[in-house]
Amino acid sequence: MDTRLLDLLVCPICKGSLQFDRDAQELICPRDKLAYPVRDDIPLMLVDLARDMTVPAPDAAADARATNADAPA
Ligand SMILES: [Zn+2]
Repeated sequence: MDTRLLDLLVCPICKGSLQFDRDAQELICPRDKLAYPVRDDIPLMLVDLARDMTVPAPDAAADARATNADAPA
């Protein structure tokens, strides 16, 4: 995605600046803990489409538990 475009984008809720997660193709608002999807280089700045980052996906949570169990204390 064009990083110049990123400079122009703000969170539709708090109007704060966003961080682009290149791997996940998401625009992240650290204040609201929301991740807005980017499809085909087009940011979808819709609250209805945003992912709530405080609620991990079931698969991700299971992976995290497995990783923690293997890690030394
Ligand atoms: Zn926000």
